Formats: sequence, structure tokens, C-alpha cells
Amino acid sequence: MALIVQKFGGTSVANPERIRNVAKRVAKKYDQGDKMVVILSAMAGVTDSLLRLAGEMAETPDRREVDVLLATGEQTTAALLAITLKSMNYPAVSLLGFQAEVVTDCNYSNARIIDIGAHRIRELLDQQNIVVIAGFQGCDAQGNITTLGRGGSDTSAVAIAAALKADMCEIYTDVDGVYTADPNVCRKARKLDKISCEEMLEMASLGAKVLHIRSVEFALKHNVLVYVRSSFSEEEGTMLVNGNHDMERPVVSGITYSKNEARITLKGVPDQPGIAAKIFNAAADANINVDMIIQNTLAGGKTDLTFTVPKTEFKRALEVERKVVEEIGADNVLGDEGIAKVSVTGIGMKSHSGVASKMFSALAVENINIMMISTSEIRISCIIEEKKAELAVRTLHTAFGLDKE
Ligand code: ADP
Ligand code: ASP
Ligand code: MG
Repeated sequence: MALIVQKFGGTSVANPERIRNVAKRVAKKYDQGDKMVVILSAMAGVTDSLLRLAGEMAETPDRREVDVLLATGEQTTAALLAITLKSMNYPAVSLLGFQAEVVTDCNYSNARIIDIGAHRIRELLDQQNIVVIAGFQGCDAQGNITTLGRGGSDTSAVAIAAALKADMCEIYTDVDGVYTADPNVCRKARKLDKISCEEMLEMASLGAKVLHIRSVEFALKHNVLVYVRSSFSEEEGTMLVNGNHDMERPVVSGITYSKNEARITLKGVPDQPGIAAKIFNAAADANINVDMIIQNTLAGGKTDLTFTVPKTEFKRALEVERKVVEEIGADNVLGDEGIAKVSVTGIGMKSHSGVASKMFSALAVENINIMMISTSEIRISCIIEEKKAELAVRTLHTAFGLDKE
């Protein structure tokens, strides 16, 4: 008898028929004698339409109330699955985030899990129930409802699996595993039967939304066995593994892209000590994540400073930096939302050179202009024009020999 956590994403619970299929899958495992905890996302598209609704009521909707609103998406699916299981004569109980004691900080819309009590879950499991939990949500120490950031129900699942010391956390989604690139963009992408947490962390942080980045952090930290697979087939999926098990590895193992990028340029910035600190402290104080940074030195003691932020933070970042421009006496600030980040990743890069030049050459052949570059030990990222993102992914996938036969 094992304790299994299963998480079903938005497309897997998109309509009543699919929820019935989920119920059948869960029931089958339960019949085999396993203890079952099921984490659900909202139906596909629901979180987006709730956000749109909030946007119709106010230009910048109150963040606390937005989380109260968004949490209803997952509340709906959790209830619907429990109703379905009960109608099939299975003992099921649905729980919301706060009932499952998912305690977070109070950073609305991007809260981090601090602790999971899980007493009630354990109790319900001991009474032979199938426990169905609304993903993506928690509550802070004051009892306010919070959400974990877009795609966050993966994190709910892995964190709950960690708290329960589950034998396995299965992530059911609309693709049958983790691929060398997004299979919906690159038809030649290959499914990986396993991937190291380190590489998955890198791919998730660079835009591969198949797993929410913080779910991978939890898996790594708490040694949770995570298995990504399709809710529409019985195909074998991808296992997340701790450490690097393959002796022979390709230098580059994955290509990712993200369109959630925007670029901000401060023109004519005085070239003096303390100025960069002012620019980036202002962003940090506003809780805006800055990713890549470049500085061009101009004549006359002035520089241009360009950096990227998540597209979702673009307007706020522009506002913040407009004030900084006035304060430091820079010329002006410009913004560009039409950009994307394309990256190559692989643990094998640690011990190989020539990856960057190969990447730049491949992009050049397709006439794709590189605006910014950043590197780490196991990745190289380039900022390019947004409309060329998919072409860049396919080009790099071929260039690094990842295409399937
Ligand atoms: P869910 O709603 O089940 O959480 P998501 O849409 O969040 O599903 O994540 C699954 C999607 O991730 C896939 O449909 C696919 O387009 C995308 N994806 C991006 N990169 C990859 C990759 N390397 N491997 C598999 N899927 C990927
Ligand atoms: N429903 C949330 C979202 O769309 C959480 C999730 O699906 O993981 O972002
Ligand atoms: Mg997801």
C-alpha cells in the first residue's frame, strides 16, 4: 500500500467528461489499495477569465481580493471531483487550501508556502477517504486567502507530497512528459524518460511551464519522487531524478523559451557610483524581479542601462523607473514588450566550450538578432524579437542535435 499524490492540470479537468475520467483514474488506484490525495487546478481558461473580470472592475484590482477571486477556480474543480467520486460510491472529501493547512506568506498572487500542517489530510486518509485538495491556494498567518503564482498547483502538489512523505507525486498534464523542448512548438522534440532536478529547475525557470519552478525546488529539497505524465494516455512519462545519473550526456539537453519578458532602457544615465544601486533598489522595493542587465558606455560621462523584467511587471516597472530617471537626472526611459528569451540548457555545458558560439551562429543563419545575452554554468539565454521565438527554438533544437529521428 502506497501513499500517492496525484495532481491534475487545467486541461485535465476542463469539462465534466474529463473530470469523470480523472475520477476513474483515481478510483482505480484507490481500488488497488493505495491511499490517495488528489490536487486540482482550475478548469483550463478559468483563472484567465477570472483575472479579466477583475480587470473590468478596476484598473489595478486590489491584490487581496484578486486572490479570493482566483481561489474559486480551484474550489470549483475540487468540489466537482469529490461530488463525482461520491456519486461513484467512493468516500471522498474536498478541502480548500486553508483546510489543508497550507500556510503561506502574505505576498498575494505570488505567495510562498511556509508550512503545511496536514493534520486534517492525515486524519481523513486514516478514515480511508480520498482527499481532494484545491491547488494553487493557501492562507497566510492572519487567515487571508493567498495564491501561489500562475502554474502554482504543481507546487501545491509537491509540497503536500513532501508534508505527507508520500511515496510518489504524479503530475498529470496534457503532454506525456518532459521533452527536450516544448512539444507544442517543436514537433521534433524528444520525450525524456528522466531528467535531473537541476536541469528541470533551469528549464522551469526559463519558461518550460510543464512544471512550476517552486515544485521542482520542493522536490529537490524534500526528496519527493515526481513523475510527469499524461492524463489522456497510459504512456510512460518522465521521472525527476536527484543527481546526474547518465555517464554520457549531451552537452545541451534542452531548449526553452519565454514570452513573459519585457525590456526597460534608461537612456543617458550619469556614469557615477551609486546610480545603478538607485535604479535597482527602486525595482527591488517594488518587488519587481530584474533578470538580465546590460550597460552601454557612451561618450560624455553618460551610459544607457537596459534590463529585463517579467512582462506582467512591465507597467509597474516603467512607473517606478520614471521616478528614478527624474531623481538621478537621466534623459528618459523606454520600454519594449515585444521580446522573448530563448535558452539552451544542459549540465554537460559545465565541461564543454563552444556552446555560445554555436548558439549565436545558428540564430544568425536564421537572421535572428540577439539583443541581450546572459549565461550561467549550465545555460545560455538570448533576448530576441518575440515573433521569432518559436523559430529560434526549432533552429537551436536542430543545431544542437536534439531532433528525434
Ligand atoms: P497543466 O495545466 O497540466 O499544469 P501546463 O499548460 O501548465 O499544464 O503545462 C503543460 C504544457 O507545458 C504543455 O502543454 C507544453 O506546451 C508546455 N511545455 C513547455 N515546455 C515543455 C517541455 N520541455 N516539455 C513538455 N511540455 C512543455
Ligand atoms: N489555475 C492556476 C493557473 O492557471 C494554477 C495552475 O493551473 O497551476 O495558473
Ligand atoms: Mg501548469
